[in-house]
Amino acid sequence: MLAGFLKSLWVTLRHIFKKPVTVQYPHERREVYDRSRWRHVLLRHEDGLEKCIGCSLCAAACPADCINVIAGENTPDNRRSPGERYATIFEINMLRCIFCGYCEDACPTGAIVLTENFELSDYNRDDFIYGKDRLLIDIPEGVALMKDILNRGNVLKYEDKAEAKDEGELAHTAKP
Ligand code: SF4
Ligand code: SF4
Repeated sequence: MLAGFLKSLWVTLRHIFKKPVTVQYPHERREVYDRSRWRHVLLRHEDGLEKCIGCSLCAAACPADCINVIAGENTPDNRRSPGERYATIFEINMLRCIFCGYCEDACPTGAIVLTENFELSDYNRDDFIYGKDRLLIDIPEGVALMKDILNRGNVLKYEDKAEAKDEGELAHTAKP
């Protein structure tokens, strides 16, 4: 019994002056890895139109079946994207998402991008269904985000991505 007590005391003493491996989250935050992929956003073109054309390729590629896209027709009075159609409804169920990035890879317009934001906690299950009101970001925010992602070499530029696809290379956006 005494031996057990001394042994556990020794373990405690050995670790008491070591630097802790934990941090005081959320007051302290560790840097995430460059290739981290978490919360999605939908981007706009420079003229403000939505990059998403409502094609549902992301939903088709999603292994967790957590994207819901309902497309509508653009009209001269209500043009939302450069294509024929746009997403009237775009929803992602973050509870089902496994953050694989396949949706980003599948998107032909570079509309959907996974970001470094992993802080997705909430109180109600319904609040984990992210709609366009939370996914679609403004242009300055989108430009800054893409600049940051490209600077870190996290994704290929859209043109590089298209070229890689043409050459039959991997469609994955992350650089090795
Ligand atoms: S990251 Fe993967 S699981 Fe999540 S929405 Fe995209 S394709 Fe689906
Ligand atoms: S995010 Fe991309 S793949 Fe998904 S519906 Fe919009 S344009 Fe199509």
